[in-house]
Amino acid sequence: MPLQQTQNLEAIPLHGLVVHRVSMEETLEAIDRFISSRTPHHVVTLDSSMCVIARDDPALQSIVSHAELVTPDSAGVLWACRRLGTPLKERVSGVEIVDRLCSLSPSRGYRLFFFGSAPGVAQAAAERMRSRYPGCQVVGTRDGFFTPEQEPAIVEQIRAARPDILCVALGIPRQEKWIHRFRDTLNVPVLIGVGGTFDVYSGRVKRAPVWMQRLNLEWLFRLLKNPRKISKVMTLPKFVLMTLRAQRRNGRSAGEQTRTSRRIG
Ligand code: UDP
Repeated sequence: MPLQQTQNLEAIPLHGLVVHRVSMEETLEAIDRFISSRTPHHVVTLDSSMCVIARDDPALQSIVSHAELVTPDSAGVLWACRRLGTPLKERVSGVEIVDRLCSLSPSRGYRLFFFGSAPGVAQAAAERMRSRYPGCQVVGTRDGFFTPEQEPAIVEQIRAARPDILCVALGIPRQEKWIHRFRDTLNVPVLIGVGGTFDVYSGRVKRAPVWMQRLNLEWLFRLLKNPRKISKVMTLPKFVLMTLRAQRRNGRSAGEQTRTSRRIG
């Protein structure tokens, strides 16, 4: 059942999707409840590129709209919600969620599985997390390059490892679709799409310096490091345009409402 109906968290509409107005602490509390329930819950980390892709991809749109929890992964999503008059609390990115879950793993007993990214990357990320948080249980890893024939074996590997949290890094929208397709067969209570997170934790890709993160320039840093990211970066101006148009529409309908209430009054 969608979270907005079960947990009283506020769902904010954004470009035909929803994003929840949650802090990092509320996200971790929700994930803890999902784990206790033992039934599958899809956590989406929404960024501006996903909003743009979903506009022309009804399947992705439906998956995100029905996810139990959607967190604001990027500065762009926070900016858009602010402009549309529905400000969010804070950024809750996939990279940070994975770090916090790993830090809680020793005390809460969380079992994580890292699935996706190039061969060796999820494993290197798992090793990094185990040394950063001694006792952190990453109970399995598997790379994200596979043929359809290999999928049943991957599902079996994940089921056998019995994780509480499956982190899937196959890129947008593949990871969301993969989670949706297998959520009811994996027997895992929390399934979360985490994009390039393992690349960051394996040390393969550096995060932007803090000053660039503060100026919302992470996208520029990624582009300079990897020019193949251009297609993702090119979704940004589209996202800005979509937001400005939505703001204009909102402004028009607010104006119409004021005129109508003046006439009625
Ligand atoms: N990836 C994968 N299998 C594929 C294609 C991509 O495992 O067939 C991985 C890729 O190695 C990277 C991640 O998916 O680690 C994509 O992360 P990125 O931040 O580039 O993309 P986004 O999530 O923003 O689409």
